[in-house]
Amino acid sequence: MLLESQLKDLIKTLKKNHVCFRENVNLSTLCSFKIGGISPLVVEPENIQSLQQTLEIFFKLEIPFKVLGGGTNLLISDFPNDFVTLRLSGEFKEFEMLSEGYFRIGAAALTTPTFRKISLLGYTGTEFLSTIPGWVGGAVIQNAGCYGGEIFNFIEKVEFLKEGKIFIESKKNIEFGYRSTQFLKNKNSYITFIEMKIPKGNLEEIEFSLKEKRDKRNASQPQNKKSAGSVFKNPPFRDEDGNPLKSWFLIDQVGLRGKIYGGAQISPEHCNFIVNLGNAKAKDVYYLICLIQEKVYEKFGIELEKEIEFFGRM
Ligand SMILES: Cc1cc2nc3c(=O)[nH]c(=O)nc-3n(C[C@H](O)[C@H](O)[C@H](O)COP(=O)(O)OP(=O)(O)OC[C@H]3O[C@@H](n4cnc5c(N)ncnc54)[C@H](O)[C@@H]3O)c2cc1C
Repeated sequence: MLLESQLKDLIKTLKKNHVCFRENVNLSTLCSFKIGGISPLVVEPENIQSLQQTLEIFFKLEIPFKVLGGGTNLLISDFPNDFVTLRLSGEFKEFEMLSEGYFRIGAAALTTPTFRKISLLGYTGTEFLSTIPGWVGGAVIQNAGCYGGEIFNFIEKVEFLKEGKIFIESKKNIEFGYRSTQFLKNKNSYITFIEMKIPKGNLEEIEFSLKEKRDKRNASQPQNKKSAGSVFKNPPFRDEDGNPLKSWFLIDQVGLRGKIYGGAQISPEHCNFIVNLGNAKAKDVYYLICLIQEKVYEKFGIELEKEIEFFGRM
């Protein structure tokens, strides 16, 4: 619970410390679902010192807060007024090449253009990342991936803040798996930068690979629709022919393709996507998520695990 008095103290302290913030921000403007209520405060530290200061202030004043990246894997509550939102800015948006094929990338860098640029500089293997929306920090948190690739395949080190200290951890000391990492499980670390090693390739082949992956995505996913991508992870089971089971198939089999509730719809094009038809509320999407889980469990005995996260109470 965020008290009015806490908020006043917080604003005063942030001003004194020259930390950037915005008041009464409509969070629907900061996420791909275009759903969410008004956050009383979005705090936007622009460098590591400012982030450290912000976290110290939050802990000292016991401010409840949540970290928002590009907002492309989240269902944001219609009532996010009982916590403060932390969103990296400034130098966290940048990336640089430290040495041949060795990149340092800020957690607030946009994933798609960053990896498109890196690919077009002649580095290969991460073309798949140029099709994933959101920010690099958010991609690291859940080990984002597609078309057989995952961001952790190329990560060398992750820099993060935990309990006020800066850590630079090598990949071998970090737990990660299919759409999961220790950061997602523990939620007590704030990713600031990553270092990646990406091999040199042939530019013509890279350009072909970029186009191939973009075309594949355009052909398989609803275009220009407001969503948060796949709602559920694929379950860890195989069908009778030994092929990995897909969540979209199970949702289709229980007859929910195209189902509408309020302003939200289970996409007719890809039924592991839920789309905002225009004026959807978080509660509409939440209803469809629960309905899918209930029907799939009833028919197949499989508990579908969410890939998207809830941001605030539903
Ligand atoms: C159309 C569409 C297609 C998609 N396709 C794919 C796909 O192919 N593969 C895939 O893996 N995903 C996909 N996604 C999901 C999403 O784009 C990725 O998971 C993305 O990497 C999330 O990044 P984000 O910055 O938007 O994170 P957010 O949604 O903002 O946040 C996700 C989580 O990360 C935390 N977080 C964010 N930044 C930090 C940080 N710096 N430190 C600590 N915690 C942080 C947040 O608190 C939250 O818990 C898709 C989404 C859409 C809308």
